[in-house]
Amino acid sequence: MQKYAGIGGFEIKRRFANGLAAKWYICPQSKFGLAPMKDAASSGAVVRQEYSTEVERLRQQFAQYLQEHRYRNTQERMRILERITELSGHFTADELYVYMRTMGDRISRATVYSTLELLVRCDILVRHRFESGGTRFELASRLPNHDHLVCTDCGRIVEFCSPGLVELAQRIAQEHQLRAVRHSLQIFARCPSYGNCPHQYGQ
Ligand SMILES: [Zn+2]
Ligand SMILES: [Zn+2]
Repeated sequence: MQKYAGIGGFEIKRRFANGLAAKWYICPQSKFGLAPMKDAASSGAVVRQEYSTEVERLRQQFAQYLQEHRYRNTQERMRILERITELSGHFTADELYVYMRTMGDRISRATVYSTLELLVRCDILVRHRFESGGTRFELASRLPNHDHLVCTDCGRIVEFCSPGLVELAQRIAQEHQLRAVRHSLQIFARCPSYGNCPHQYGQ
């Protein structure tokens, strides 16, 4: 296997050329598009420091949740959280499982699934049900208050931030005597070049 030096869409496609993660999509603007500190030789020191501080913060948040809810704080659970921070964009449970196995982690599919559930419950992960790609997860902290455009032809997911939408959600909630905490919007759209879509896997 190639030395792991960071995750980009190209790397993942090549690594999983057996088709196991054919629809993997990597969000290029993610601040987590980095390898772990020990491997991220080409990244700047400041970025590495921010990355490791963020991972440590998430580890503490997860550890506290596990303790409060009387779940065991196992190495496997923490490993899953760490591996998630190496990914960018949105991922499925199976993609994470395949990624971890590829990286040499000894982990069962059942542990990956149950840990994802715990990470959603403690607000570290957000679960999206995209029409095109089923259930996908992403770190809640990586891009707060963003929404998604989903291409119904190729499954591509585009993220965007719109302050206008945040205000609109707040206004609608207020009209109903409520206070908006968060919102989730998916806009379904079509690629202009369907049939010859540059985003479709393998093209
Ligand atoms: Zn498309
Ligand atoms: Zn997103």
